[in-house]
Amino acid sequence: MTNVSAPAGANKCMLITGGSRGIGAATARMAARAGYRVAINYMNSVGAALGLAEEIVAAGGEAQAFQADVGRQDQVGRLFEQVDSAFGAVDVLVNNAGVLTSCRVDRTEEPQLLDVFRTNVFSAFFCSHEAIRRMSTMHGGRGGAIINVSSVAARLGGQSGGAQYAASKGAIDSFTNALSKEVGAEGIRVNGVRPGLIVTDIHNFHQDAGPDGIARRASTVPLRRAGQPDEVAEVILWLASDAASYVHGAIVDVSGGR
Ligand code: NAP
Repeated sequence: MTNVSAPAGANKCMLITGGSRGIGAATARMAARAGYRVAINYMNSVGAALGLAEEIVAAGGEAQAFQADVGRQDQVGRLFEQVDSAFGAVDVLVNNAGVLTSCRVDRTEEPQLLDVFRTNVFSAFFCSHEAIRRMSTMHGGRGGAIINVSSVAARLGGQSGGAQYAASKGAIDSFTNALSKEVGAEGIRVNGVRPGLIVTDIHNFHQDAGPDGIARRASTVPLRRAGQPDEVAEVILWLASDAASYVHGAIVDVSGGR
């Protein structure tokens, strides 16, 4: 029976890949407030990741930052061992790390494609591989939850030049679907979120990045505005919680109606 008085994250560890900035950082802050021990993975943004961990600890939460390129399986293995030592086995994995690219298919070469798929797709396989070995009742674990961060680009095809990104997120949706069937009977719930236009630095490579560019693109969103990272984090936290105990294999659009 669920202990209604305990916070959702009590005695649980949540690992968020790409937790240093944007949606991942918002999820980390919210998870800490919900009582999770928060493992913040980052790749390059060491200052942001350490600063976020310090901010959470100063507010009375538990958090630590862990460097790893989650597109590399050896680094993911090391990441999970470090999290084991710091916080114990992961209970919730948020596969959030991602990059947005823009490149026509007739200009796309193998190295760039590999980079995008390593970060956006291979990372989810590598991290889930480690997480399942800890969470699955078949491996002696106590169950858990995996939440994959996709994109509405998987449905809409993304912006011009968005084939790499859209295809990588389409792969994540298929992965969510397939993995939910594979591990559902082992106590692991697997779900996804599909954000739409969310105000983060991921858009900075566009020529029309910044408030004006975001506002222009937001005019095509049925709610007529871009979303905030917190609005995605809310859904991730809900999917991780016992409140979503019968939600499995679902992919929730957080896109203002797009
Ligand atoms: P963001 O602000 O650019 O943050 C991206 C995060 O991913 C950073 O923390 C970055 O870490 C991390 N990262 C990138 N490559 C990594 C790697 N190889 N290993 C570990 N970490 C890595 O982006 P965001 O908007 O929050 O995006 C988060 C997720 O939401 C992505 O999967 C993205 O595709 C998805 N999404 C975003 C939007 C949107 O409009 N913002 C819409 C749909 C979907 P470092 O900075 O430390 O390198």
